[in-house]
Amino acid sequence: MTDADATAVVDCYQDLRDRLIHAGVLIGSTVKGLYGKGAAFVHVFDGLDALVTEAGQVDQPELMRFPPLLPREHFVRTDYVRSFPDLIGSVHSFLGGDREHAALLQTLADDGPWSTELDPTELVLVPAACYPIYPTISGILPRGGRTFDVLGSCFRHEGSDDPARMMTFHQHEFVHVGTPESALAFRNRWLERSQILMKSIGLDVADEVANDPFFGRAGRMLAANQRGDALKFEVVATVANPEKSTAIVSCNCHQDHLTIPFGINTHDGGVAHSACVGFGMERIVLALFARHGMDLELWPREYRSRLGV
Ligand code: ZN
Repeated sequence: MTDADATAVVDCYQDLRDRLIHAGVLIGSTVKGLYGKGAAFVHVFDGLDALVTEAGQVDQPELMRFPPLLPREHFVRTDYVRSFPDLIGSVHSFLGGDREHAALLQTLADDGPWSTELDPTELVLVPAACYPIYPTISGILPRGGRTFDVLGSCFRHEGSDDPARMMTFHQHEFVHVGTPESALAFRNRWLERSQILMKSIGLDVADEVANDPFFGRAGRMLAANQRGDALKFEVVATVANPEKSTAIVSCNCHQDHLTIPFGINTHDGGVAHSACVGFGMERIVLALFARHGMDLELWPREYRSRLGV
């Protein structure tokens, strides 16, 4: 990419961001990737959430909701620290007594690095909405496996000029844990089903093989393997950049990456596999505003009625 191309990309991110904030759809902050949301955003989000929920009813998922925090002991059993260290959100707090508090206040008064006097708690921020499920289902699955509906707040530390790359966002996921065959079939069904849903609200979407943003040199090999095995697909749409589409839904087969660490087995004692489809709720809402305009009143009637806005 030339410098001129890079500038054009940043310009199109800033253009969309400015329009969203000017229209009151997003509320800006001093940190890149951190936004509040206005009424129009919230109404579209809620309408979209109802459509996503309805699309999943055919599988009769078990409804679960979790806080945006995960026990650290569960987090370290996944390979997240190895694969995505740059995206981690670890919760630290002050664990000292009066003497340490006085030192902390002195550092603060001196404009010093006060946060180095905090210690890690037993909590990390949830990086993907399906993560809290696996520790709760250790053991033997029923015949046919289990299927879940989760909506959760996720955190990834990646500030960006792109308003579609938020540091905190919601994923509405459907998750299946079962045999290798049932997990793959679930992923493939949702690859089709999610695109039908996105087209029904006026988004031009396509699917493509993708990889997770694995860190560093070792990560490049993990990414190549993931692509080679076609484990991850993304449903993409145009949001800010007409030259490069944005992933709005991801359809993943985790194989045994999340079942072995938590001892999850199939009804006949085999190692279970898991798969999930994650609707990137904020990204889909932004794709809708980018596509249909900043004024909800001017959106095509058909899509407003689908979304109930
Ligand atoms: Zn997931």
